[in-house]
Amino acid sequence: MAFDPEVLQCARTLFEHRFEEEIRPAYNNRLWETKTKFTIGPELPFSGMDAQRLIAVEVQFAREAATAQADSLVAAIKTAGLKFDNEALIIGLNNTKELLNKHKHSATNTVLSAFAQQIDQAAKAGIDQDLDAKLARIHDSVLSLLKSKLAEAILLAKAETSNSGDKVFARMAIDEARKSVPENDGRPHPWVGAVVVKDGKVLGTAHRGEVPGNHAEFVALERNLPNVAVAGATVYTTLEPCTTRTPPKIPCVDRLIERRVTRVVIGILDPDDRIRGKGQRKLSNAGIETSLFPHDLAMEVEELNREFTRFCEKQSLTSQTDTAKSFAPADGLKPLVVPLRYGPSPLQARKHSMGHHGLIVANHGEPAYDVSILTSEVQIGASKLCFEGSKSTFTKSDGDAFFAAVVERSPHSHIMGSALFDEMRKQGVDDITVELIYKDAENRWYKTIGKIERNVSEVGGLMVRYVRQEPMSQS
Ligand SMILES: [Zn+2]
Repeated sequence: MAFDPEVLQCARTLFEHRFEEEIRPAYNNRLWETKTKFTIGPELPFSGMDAQRLIAVEVQFAREAATAQADSLVAAIKTAGLKFDNEALIIGLNNTKELLNKHKHSATNTVLSAFAQQIDQAAKAGIDQDLDAKLARIHDSVLSLLKSKLAEAILLAKAETSNSGDKVFARMAIDEARKSVPENDGRPHPWVGAVVVKDGKVLGTAHRGEVPGNHAEFVALERNLPNVAVAGATVYTTLEPCTTRTPPKIPCVDRLIERRVTRVVIGILDPDDRIRGKGQRKLSNAGIETSLFPHDLAMEVEELNREFTRFCEKQSLTSQTDTAKSFAPADGLKPLVVPLRYGPSPLQARKHSMGHHGLIVANHGEPAYDVSILTSEVQIGASKLCFEGSKSTFTKSDGDAFFAAVVERSPHSHIMGSALFDEMRKQGVDDITVELIYKDAENRWYKTIGKIERNVSEVGGLMVRYVRQEPMSQS
C-alpha cells in the first residue's frame, strides 16, 4: 500500500518550516562565525585544523537537519493516524540520503570557497573521504532512529490487537444484548448479552430472557455450557453481574466464581447506585480479573440501557433521600435493615402470572440475619397486600432479599394488581406500614417499621420511608 502523498507532502512542509525557521538560521550563524575566524584574507595559509572545524559545523548541521526530517515524517504519519511501517522507513531513508547529498555538496562548497585555491587535489580527496564517513554515520543514526519508530509502531499495533480481541467480543456481547427479551411488566429492564471466550474461541453466547426470567450469564454458563470446562475463560457481559437473586436462584457473580472464569469484561456497572460496583468488587475479591469494555462500546451499552438507567437513578434517588432522613443515629441504634424499594418479583414466581410485587430489604452497614416480615397482611382500603411469609437469612456478602407479596382484591380472587401503586391510588390510600424483624450478629432482635408511600408526583413511584427502628425485648 503506497503512502498517502498528501501525508508525505505535509511531512515535507513540517520539516521545511522547522529547517527554515530554526535550523538554517542557527547554522548559517555558526558557519559564518567559524569561517570569519580564519578567512581574514585569502592569502592566509591553509590549515587542516581550520578545515576540520568548518567541516564539523557542516556535519553537525546535516545531522540536525536529517534528524528533524525523520522526526517530521514520523510525526506526520502518527498525526494522520497511519502506521509507521517498512514502507515509511524506506521513504524516510531515501529522504535522508537526498538531504545528506545536498549537505555534502554545500559542505564541500563551503570548505572549498573558504580556502579558495589553497586546496590541492590530495587535500580535496581527503576532505571528500572525511565528509563521506561522517555523513554515513549520520545516515546510520537516522536509520536507527527510524527503526526504533518502526519497532514502537509494531508494539503499539500488537497492544491494539490484544485489545481488539476485547473489542470483537464486547461487540458480540452488545449484539447479543439487543436480542434481550424483557418481562412484560411495564417497567424498563436492562439489555444484557454475555459471551464466553476461551483461548480466543467463543464457547457460547446468551442474552437476558433467552430462557424466560433468566440472566444472560446464567443462560450462557449453566444452560448452554453446563459440562464445558470454562475455567480460565473470559466472560464479556454488557452489564455488571448481579450479586443478589431470590433463592433458589444463584447470583451471576457466584456462578462466575464457581465456574472459575479468569476474567470478566463488563460493559457498564450497575446503574443502581446502591449496588453499583458490588459485582465487580466481589469478582476481584475472588481473584478474578475485571475490566471494562473499550470506551466507545461502553457508550453504546450506556445508550442501549438509557431508559433502564434513568429508572434506576430515580429509584436510587428516592431511597437515598429516605435513608438519609431516616437514620438519625440519635437513639444509638445501628441501622441494619431498611426497606428500600419495590418491584415486581422475578418471573420465576410463576403462580401469579401477572407478576408479583414485593419488598426488597437491603443490608445497610452491618448484616442482619433471619429477616422476616412481621406484617404478613397490610390493608389497602378494601384490598390487602399479602406477604408470603418469607424468611431469609443474610450473610455478609448478600446485598438484599426479596419478599414477594400479592395484592388480594377480594376474598375469592387472587388476581395480582399490576402495581401496588395503582391499587393504592384506586383505594385512595396514601401510605401503608410494614414491620420487619431481624437480628444482628450478636443475636439481638430488632424491629424496623417502614412506611410505603405513594409518591403522587411520580408516575408509578412508590417510596419507602423508614419510620422507626427499635430493639425488641430479648427473650
Ligand atoms: Zn445475574
